[in-house]
Amino acid sequence: MEKIAVFPGSFDPFTVGHESIVNRAQVLFDKIYIAVGSNSKKDALFSLEERKTFINQVFEGNSKIEVVHFEGLTIEFCKKMGAEYLLRGLRTAADFEYERAIAQVNKAMYEGIETVFLLTMPEHTPVNSSIVRDIIRHGGDASKFLPKKMNITKIKK
Ligand code: ADP
Repeated sequence: MEKIAVFPGSFDPFTVGHESIVNRAQVLFDKIYIAVGSNSKKDALFSLEERKTFINQVFEGNSKIEVVHFEGLTIEFCKKMGAEYLLRGLRTAADFEYERAIAQVNKAMYEGIETVFLLTMPEHTPVNSSIVRDIIRHGGDASKFLPKKMNITKIKK
């Protein structure tokens, strides 16, 4: 049976940390849906469409990866897509505590789901979207933290 995973996140914006998780997960799954959800916090920088465009730039031509938008409960989205795996990245103990609760609650709600965690590469441990957003907002150069194929320069803030 096809192994289908959903990698949910706000990806505001998608970073080298996210890219690395997806690239390394490709050997584990036949299909990975990168599911862009609305940022629950109010300080969103990029629109959903912009975030999707950026991620498509990174994985263009890769039929294993599909970028989609989702709303509502992640497990309901997984059921809709026929996905039995949720992919998440772990950087720190704080990530672990947060992710543990979500994964256990998801499992309690839907037994057919397994959350698969990949540990971040050491060099990506400090990379997070909210710091990258701050750099961009203040006119700094965030290119070190963004995938090489991603082009955010056309979008003025
Ligand atoms: P969310 O708002 O759902 O946490 P994010 O876009 O911040 O969405 O992150 C999506 C997933 O990517 C999460 O599992 C997060 O832990 C993981 N992630 C974010 N940054 C990194 C990184 N630098 N290295 C590895 N995983 C990361």
